[in-house]
Amino acid sequence: MWAAASSMLRSCGLTLCLVAASLAARAEQGGVTAFERAHAEHLGIIRFCVDPDWSPFEWVDGEGRHRGIGADLLGLVARRAGLAIELQRTKDWDESLDAAARGRCSLLSFLNRTPAREKWLLFTEPVFSDPNVIITREEHPAVANLHDLSGQVMALPRGTSIEERVRKDYPNISIILTATEDEAMQMVSDRRADLTLRSLIVAAYTIKKQGLFNLKIAGRLSDYTNHLRIAVSSGDDVLRDILDRGVATLTEEDRDEIVNRYVSITIEEPFDLGLLARIAGAVVVALGVAGAVIWRMSRVNRELRLQSRMDALTGLVNRKAIEARLDAEVARALRHQRDLCVIMMDIDHFKAVNDDFGHPAGDRVLASFGRLIASGVRRLDLAGRLGGEEFVVLCPEAGLVEGFGAAERIRRAVEDADFGLGRPVTISAGVAALRRGDRGQDLLARADTALYAAKRSGRNRTMDDTGAPN
Ligand code: GH3
Ligand code: MG
Ligand code: MG
Repeated sequence: MWAAASSMLRSCGLTLCLVAASLAARAEQGGVTAFERAHAEHLGIIRFCVDPDWSPFEWVDGEGRHRGIGADLLGLVARRAGLAIELQRTKDWDESLDAAARGRCSLLSFLNRTPAREKWLLFTEPVFSDPNVIITREEHPAVANLHDLSGQVMALPRGTSIEERVRKDYPNISIILTATEDEAMQMVSDRRADLTLRSLIVAAYTIKKQGLFNLKIAGRLSDYTNHLRIAVSSGDDVLRDILDRGVATLTEEDRDEIVNRYVSITIEEPFDLGLLARIAGAVVVALGVAGAVIWRMSRVNRELRLQSRMDALTGLVNRKAIEARLDAEVARALRHQRDLCVIMMDIDHFKAVNDDFGHPAGDRVLASFGRLIASGVRRLDLAGRLGGEEFVVLCPEAGLVEGFGAAERIRRAVEDADFGLGRPVTISAGVAALRRGDRGQDLLARADTALYAAKRSGRNRTMDDTGAPN
């Protein structure tokens, strides 16, 4: 599978592929590249397993359809990554884990990463993050720390990552296992258990759906946030990486829109509705306020995380993100003895563009150049702006010959493009391929040296790091 995928990557040509940073924009335009189609065909239909009873995150409906927040997110990721997926039916989550372990399905849809699972699964970046809250009955005092609740009984669905963590972190708590999420909440409501620990989203949904209005949120475990991810079998790095391209395209709006289809955390005023409705209102208000605050915080945090990796002018990733990814790619390439190369590019005589047309026109050239690179590189590549008018593309699975060809295609595309200045814009490029013992910085330094050799020998050309004429 790896060899076939990599040969396809080599033959697909740089213009056919896409980087994560540009994927969202292209997906919104409905653009499907030939590479995506080719790769999807190669992988065929990917069977995936789910938790059939985890509303509103995911469930399987009466007609055998995968539904819920996780289902819609997985569908979106797969569509944007160009993957065809099909549900492998199971009776419960345990059977799904078993099916994944036996290779009956190659993907698990929506789950937390845990040390035990990491022994046999590879995880994507988080698809969705949701805090966990402590649910007790109304009369229970607020809970600051689960260590204070020795001997109390917590109801938890069997086989979840929460069970694994609570057993380890809070051995003082007795755990009763239930078959389903709903049953755990019901047991607390019916006084058969003292508390449960659930995701805010699931708690809000279940309390409303089942009318468990004697329940409340008694506290939150800040380090127990569910970061839900897609998982594949360990060894399936290529599939995980393709899924990660899709995950990288998910925006805040995508997530909000999907959550709103399943959970509306409304704030109701407890007027004139009798005791039951007042309690219901209070629970919903508590959920709503907690939800709104947590939601807002996670939104701001996500935004900050995103901003810290993006270059605002071009929409490409910035130097920091490139360097982090470069180190990871170097480690991976050396470990698996794969090719890796780096293309560094610098716009020729760019100062003259600013001088002749003004800084805003210079900015427009930079933005257009950013778009041109993003749409001209492969899906597995990562294009970024190092600063000023210097850009870089990381090309996993590409050696010097492929990297050089890619750089030349970009250089020619720039030469032929109309940047609206009434004169051509050109770039010089330097290409360096990974050598044994390299660190990321060594690779960048050699690409930089090659770039300046290209500048010295007349600009509008590509040189590689061997110093030999091409
Ligand atoms: P060379 O061919 O040797 O690369 O010449 P050059 O003029 O491109 O290089 P030089 O390093 O002399 O000038 C780079 C220019 O890029 C100077 C700087 O004002 C401009 N620049 C850097 N960042 C930005 C930016 O964000 N916007 C604009 N409009 N210009 C920028
Ligand atoms: Mg320049
Ligand atoms: Mg420069």
